[in-house]
Amino acid sequence: MIFDYLFGLFSNDLAIDLGTANTLIYQKGRGVVCNEPSVVAVQNDGSRGKRRVVAVGSEAKLMLGRTPGSITAIRPMKDGVIADFEMAEEMLRHLIRKVHNRRTLVRPRIIICVPHGITEVEKRAVRESAESAGAREVYLIEEPMAAAIGAGLPITEACGSMILDIGGGTTEIAIISLKGIVYSRSVRVGGDKMDEAIANFVRRRHNVLIGDRTAEQIKIAIGNAFPSNEELHVEVKGRDLLQGIPKAVMVSESEVREALIEPINQIVEVVKIALEKCPPELSSDIIDRGIAMAGGGALLRNLDKLITQQTGILTTVVQDPLSAVVIGSGAVLDQFDVLKDVVIQ
Ligand code: ADP
Ligand code: MG
Repeated sequence: MIFDYLFGLFSNDLAIDLGTANTLIYQKGRGVVCNEPSVVAVQNDGSRGKRRVVAVGSEAKLMLGRTPGSITAIRPMKDGVIADFEMAEEMLRHLIRKVHNRRTLVRPRIIICVPHGITEVEKRAVRESAESAGAREVYLIEEPMAAAIGAGLPITEACGSMILDIGGGTTEIAIISLKGIVYSRSVRVGGDKMDEAIANFVRRRHNVLIGDRTAEQIKIAIGNAFPSNEELHVEVKGRDLLQGIPKAVMVSESEVREALIEPINQIVEVVKIALEKCPPELSSDIIDRGIAMAGGGALLRNLDKLITQQTGILTTVVQDPLSAVVIGSGAVLDQFDVLKDVVIQ
């Protein structure tokens, strides 16, 4: 299944973060060897119903919303889990081929990140496809744990750490102590919902229709969770809804902030609930140590400042938030004897 091809190519142990937005692969001893958007572009081969892959990763992402009738750009991961197994397999096959070309027979150890709280059935599906592919050992690690390790939090100590991971499809919050997850919640709000909110806003306010990719570019260019002194603007091109022709409008930072109020409030809310549910001893640790924020959504300007202000707990962005999960799982591969009890048994 999914991992067949992978094991044919690699002798080395791997850690894989199959994210809704980005797929990252860590190879033991080498570090992060792959980092691509989780997108596959396929050509539908007419009557036989077969789908032929035409592009994967950043090349395919460019095609989102720009494809002719016979080509579709697919995101195989949805809400943190595999939604299209066939395309997820194609995507991995392609990415692995890109990072490595050597065929070996050694069966590797592999660590795959899964969201906290996925069902037993989902866990078994991921595990079995890896085992049937010939993995020597397959381990699943929960994403918040991996993110916390990647962020360098003291997860082995009897001390509460709070990690907030804002990805493309979901936001996960977790409290970790003594190598275990004490509390965790996931909400289906993340970067994608922010992009959607921006596209809806531009349509309502300016009568201009823009795609999700353009909305994401606006978010990255001028998105800001907290009012600042300078008011940035960006020129946005889309289709005028009234005249039906292409049109350019200026969108401001405060407009984007207004558009993002709802998804951002949902993220703040999930943090507040976690703080309320936290056992008192761990609460005092979190007051002292703050909240560590990972995932691409953590890069939204001043989101750390906003969460700090709204919760009263110092919130900081981890170093390299987009890679924290794969780096953390890679650290488990590298120090397997010390960290092996953080994987799901
Ligand atoms: P996943 O784990 O679901 O694959 P990631 O952690 O890779 O998600 O984060 C991807 C999300 O982060 C996307 O929605 C992307 O738009 C968003 N993102 C990336 N960079 C920034 C930025 N500078 N500002 C705001 N959002 C960003
Ligand atoms: Mg992620």
